[in-house]
Amino acid sequence: MTTSQVINPATEKVVATFESADVAATDAAIERAHRAAPGWRDMAPGDRARLLRRFAEAVDADLENLARLEVANAGHTIGNARWEAGNVRDVLHYSAGLPERLLGSQIPVAGGIDITFHEPLGVVGIIVPWNFPMPIAAWGFGPALAAGNTVVLKPAELTPLTALRLGELALAAGLPEHVFQVVSGRGSVVGQRFVTHPAVRKVVFTGSTEVGKQIMAGCAEQVKRVTLELGGKSANIVFADADLDKAAATAPYAVFDNAGQDCCARSRILVQRSVFDRFLELLEPAVRGVRVGDPADEATEMGPLISAAHRERVAGFLEPSTKVAFTGTRPEGPGFWFPPTVVLPAGPTDRVLTEEVFGPVVAVLPFTDEADAIRIANDSEYGLSGSIWTSDVGRALRVTRAVEAGNLSVNSHSSVRYWTPFGGFKQSGLGRELGPDAARAFTETKNVFIATDQ
Ligand code: NAD
Repeated sequence: MTTSQVINPATEKVVATFESADVAATDAAIERAHRAAPGWRDMAPGDRARLLRRFAEAVDADLENLARLEVANAGHTIGNARWEAGNVRDVLHYSAGLPERLLGSQIPVAGGIDITFHEPLGVVGIIVPWNFPMPIAAWGFGPALAAGNTVVLKPAELTPLTALRLGELALAAGLPEHVFQVVSGRGSVVGQRFVTHPAVRKVVFTGSTEVGKQIMAGCAEQVKRVTLELGGKSANIVFADADLDKAAATAPYAVFDNAGQDCCARSRILVQRSVFDRFLELLEPAVRGVRVGDPADEATEMGPLISAAHRERVAGFLEPSTKVAFTGTRPEGPGFWFPPTVVLPAGPTDRVLTEEVFGPVVAVLPFTDEADAIRIANDSEYGLSGSIWTSDVGRALRVTRAVEAGNLSVNSHSSVRYWTPFGGFKQSGLGRELGPDAARAFTETKNVFIATDQ
């Protein structure tokens, strides 16, 4: 075990220290989870459901504390942080409805009956990034626990505080010991051990596409199950027949929310050429109006970036030749601040168009017609989310069917509801989280034939 520090990204002050687990501590946690698995699996579905409901209630009772922890640890605005803690509660309540509904099938056969079971996998390892520490953790552990698995969860090195608190709340709510454990530490140590330890039967990884590929390759060694939620470069497509005022007023929040550190950020705005200039005129005051500042202030809409290193990476996308159309504001003084920034890319291979910035930088570019919009939107290795703004319902349906992405919205920028499926096409991921099938992703289907012939 080594000790690491947690820095408040809005003040650059140390807010806490935590223990980083080594391989031996990780193995011990995995082995405890392995031993706890049969008891949890065999618990009556209604009892498992009741404990998850209690866990949800414990999160709700601690909501303000969890939100304040996230403001201090990740620089999230207090409004967002409350939503995130509420999302954990809701995912747990939804998951609590799943144990008694994990239905198998009865399939017609000759000479007997054929039935299927959805068996839990055993130990599930969940690896979480720093951008949404609470919700992303819960999207994995809620349904995994509901399906009868035990969970070891590794938060990101930069943001362990809310995950550690959720571990305490689970125990206080009555979950049996070692059913849900939080192991903080480095990705290359703790996370990597989830990949290599044979008792971990599935890895749920959310993070960069680069690390996701390594996880998938590592899991291949044991044919280990894997869910991947990776990067994005999502398009916000604005047609000339859209409500331009609304499209322009909402576009900044679709990319600058959480300071752009959002895998669903609509970081490419595609605007039909005939309204391109008008759209930029409307976008400018909207971007300048984004309130950037102290995340604990109720009125703040955008906080700092997560770290000094990350701010440097984001700034690296703005080269001397980059054409910046306009920027918003940012506070002076300590904190890893970066202003909302609107860029006009030089051409289709401009890095700002092809790579995930993961910061408050958006590229705006024109398209000619529907086919051109679809071509540009799909000209990406990613395929996570996107928005289509139009008043033509036929076009909305044609374009949503044609865009290669897992989560699309029409005349809106919503991506995430805990009761609808979430996940990416292409290199944005593998598998789906949330929604009615969430628990199934943590089971194996077993087919059993019982002869009735004498
Ligand atoms: P990251 O890939 O650096 O780290 C993610 C997690 O993986 C961390 O907990 C880290 O400790 C761990 N890790 C790092 N190396 C590892 C290894 N070799 N083995 C095992 N674990 C390892 O990503 P990040 O910088 O924390 O997060 C940002 C990325 O996450 C962005 O690309 C973003 O798009 C993506 N993301 C995707 C989604 C989605 O749902 N698709 C959601 C949020 C974030």
